[in-house]
Amino acid sequence: MHFFWFSEKISIRKSFPEKMPLKKLSSLEKEHLQGKKVLLRVDFNVPLKEGKVMDATRIKKTLPTINYLLKNGSSVIIMTHIGRPKGRFVDDLSTAPIATELSKMINRPVIEANDCIGAEVSKLKQELKQGEILMLENTRFHTAEKENTRDFSRELAEHCDLFIQDAFASVHRGHASTVGVAHFLPSYAGLLVEREAEVLSEIMKNDEHPFVLVTGGAKIDTKIGVIRHFLKTADSILVGGGLANTFLYASGFEVGASLCEKNKTDLAQEILADSESMGGKLHIPIDTIVAKEISSNADFNNKQNDLIMEDDIMLDIGVVTQDYFLECIKNAKVIVWNGPMGLFEHDIFAQGTKRIARAIADSDAMTVIGGGDTIEAINRFNISEDSFTHVSTGGGAMIEFLEGKILPGLSVLKD
Ligand code: ADP
Ligand code: MG
Repeated sequence: MHFFWFSEKISIRKSFPEKMPLKKLSSLEKEHLQGKKVLLRVDFNVPLKEGKVMDATRIKKTLPTINYLLKNGSSVIIMTHIGRPKGRFVDDLSTAPIATELSKMINRPVIEANDCIGAEVSKLKQELKQGEILMLENTRFHTAEKENTRDFSRELAEHCDLFIQDAFASVHRGHASTVGVAHFLPSYAGLLVEREAEVLSEIMKNDEHPFVLVTGGAKIDTKIGVIRHFLKTADSILVGGGLANTFLYASGFEVGASLCEKNKTDLAQEILADSESMGGKLHIPIDTIVAKEISSNADFNNKQNDLIMEDDIMLDIGVVTQDYFLECIKNAKVIVWNGPMGLFEHDIFAQGTKRIARAIADSDAMTVIGGGDTIEAINRFNISEDSFTHVSTGGGAMIEFLEGKILPGLSVLKD
């Protein structure tokens, strides 16, 4: 049975990839779901503010799986992480607002647990009836989540019959709720994970050029590895966001009070040298939008790299850089984008991200974008997801998948 999935852009380009070697929820017979308690891992790591969900995209994308389970007679126990509470209970990172939002979206009650393990939760799970939904509390309120301990995984899996992995954005992490529980339960890919894996496999097989990788954002650590990998396969790598500052610093420019990982200088220099030896594939900004403070009514300037002052904060790519990046995007046949070009949450620093987003949306190339903040940005700019070949719910997971890495949260679902 097939729902979804392919936008026209993909289906006309290539034939369907060979069967994914994942065990899939969609291939389970109804009798395997009827009356079963299903432990469902989702990635509801959505932006929260004052007890409200600010962007529900990631929740929406798991609704097909939740509805499918309910329709087939299961009860659903939902678990997710949110943010980085470092093993402590943090009020602002509770799943409570998400349970409320989900309940509204599916027009059904969602029972809220006050933890993800423990006697009370165990009782709630045991008493859960067919068709009911239980939302567990943030798994990262326990250090055992990231440590992936056996006991914690066993407790998460207790009283459940099946594990469904639908947290695509978290499958690159080997945690208890993404990997550990699979050792205790028959485990299958949810509809979102199935679709992501299929579409991204299709993209990996695409060998059209120019292939342009656009990357930015704040997570310098994870993205430097990506750049190193794509230097081999991409024709151009366009770098913006906080990430670019590290490269500018490594090239000898002043970066003032900007976000910059100075301890990554050696690595950045190494990558710049590699790029040089390959004909200069890596493109870092020529100019930048700077301000003296991060606020929506700050004074801001467009400055060339050599004019940055000690008290400047670099918050968006400059106009010359934007024009140059747009030119590269216009000529591309395949574009992968992860990471905003600047601090787009403030309108005055959003122009670079907005122009790049529009150009990618308007391109006839095969376009794949991903990352929580990248998706938040396109929603903010009112750019429809239909403008892209694929909008992945994963940032790190999408990139690691495209790198061909083995993702722990998927390898436990292998057929
Ligand atoms: P994604 O979630 O799409 O993978 P990241 O989480 O890596 O992206 O980065 C997104 C964050 O990076 C956004 O909150 C954005 O404001 C921030 N950011 C981008 N450019 C800058 C910059 N120059 N200075 C500070 N923060 C930046
Ligand atoms: Mg992010």
